[in-house]
Amino acid sequence: MSETTVGKEIFENLSYSKKNIYEEASPEKIKAIFDYSEGYKSYLDKAKTEREAARVTVEMAKDAGFTEYKLGDKLKIGDKKYLNHRGKSVILFTVGTEDIEKEGIRILAAHIDSPRLDLKQVPMYEDGGMGFLKTHYYGGIKKYQWTAIPLALHGVIVKCGGEVIDVNIGEDDSDPVFYINDLLPHLGQKQSAEPLGSAIKGETLNILIGGLPYDDKDVSEKIKLTALSILNEKYGVSEEDFLSAELSLVPAFSARDIGFDRALVAAYGHDDRVCAYPAITALLDSKETKHTVMVILADKEEIGSEGVTGMQSRIFTDIIEEISEALGKNARVVRNSSKCLSADVTACFDPNFADVYEKKNSAMISCGTTMSKYTGARGKSSTNDASAEYVAYIRKIFADNGVIWQTAELGKVDAGGGGTVAKYIANHNIETVDLGVPVISMHAPYEVVSKADVYSTYEAFVAFIK
Ligand code: MN
Ligand code: MN
Repeated sequence: MSETTVGKEIFENLSYSKKNIYEEASPEKIKAIFDYSEGYKSYLDKAKTEREAARVTVEMAKDAGFTEYKLGDKLKIGDKKYLNHRGKSVILFTVGTEDIEKEGIRILAAHIDSPRLDLKQVPMYEDGGMGFLKTHYYGGIKKYQWTAIPLALHGVIVKCGGEVIDVNIGEDDSDPVFYINDLLPHLGQKQSAEPLGSAIKGETLNILIGGLPYDDKDVSEKIKLTALSILNEKYGVSEEDFLSAELSLVPAFSARDIGFDRALVAAYGHDDRVCAYPAITALLDSKETKHTVMVILADKEEIGSEGVTGMQSRIFTDIIEEISEALGKNARVVRNSSKCLSADVTACFDPNFADVYEKKNSAMISCGTTMSKYTGARGKSSTNDASAEYVAYIRKIFADNGVIWQTAELGKVDAGGGGTVAKYIANHNIETVDLGVPVISMHAPYEVVSKADVYSTYEAFVAFIK
């Protein structure tokens, strides 16, 4: 053996490098990865808003033998429960045999809201022979990406008496879709010279809804009246009912494989259903009942985890208290021993925009589920910075279970930043670290992930809760 070969061997033993899952995987493993992504794609197509994600998740939980839990219900070891929290957030949990004061609760926390355009409360008007709906964007979007693409209208109208009307227009091939006008390049000289962030203004994100005037010469807003009469006929609503509605425009695309080899998948709302789905399926597929496990699917992450259905809501610690009380345990001790993976996406290294990434510490596509010890911006501000001890604890679980994973930060230091629900969980004295799928074009109407990374995240969650 020559000296150089010895050196190479030593180097391989001592140095660390990421592994591409597709390079490591057997044909059977690649088949399992691709098969899993079929279930994920169909979940995505049924769950474009938090309300839809909550509904679909509850159906999946029921099919797996979970029963409904309401605050105050009695609980016992062996229970498999779901709480549908106001239709917009879901908590699934199983009560295990282990002592939760010693072992704590294993928590997977993802979010099921995604960036989109919400209708204003008095949205409808007409101008220039066209009908429109005014919007206020939800979450961090690049506004120019939302013009000139097909959009679908999802949500609820709640009538004055409390009747809830579900709206879903634009997903069926026979449905009409909605649209936001953009300027033609021929007249876009001034617009093209503007910075990307301000070329499209929030107040121009108006939804094109029609152009057929109502047949009555005495009506002043004929196109608006046509729209209102169609809505009245279909849903029994009037313009006033928009006051108590939550209607959103989401891209009317379905999830599709990307590329010749189908290794990647594009969809609206990977952030964060690409972590929600693995968390749900990891729990529903798990046969073991040793640990007490909670899967939290929170709403409102994209606007700061606020509100009654966001991660800062008391509901999540209330359930920990309920489980603790039912088992005669001290909830403060239980929280102290509990462990959480905050399941959210991170930025995937993109060679087209390499200058904002620091390659050694970026998530690389298909190199596995990605741990972010810290997120934040400008000197780790506003992050839950997980301890080395906790990272080592998770590392051991992944090593023992053959999970291929990687670490990353969200781009170069001082290039920007972001946050997740991690800090809100950690604030309750629960060990937490971020883990999730790297995403290309995050927050765009059509985002891209690797099927290998989705499956790796599923394997990581299975290992964590088993
Ligand atoms: Mn997210
Ligand atoms: Mn996000």
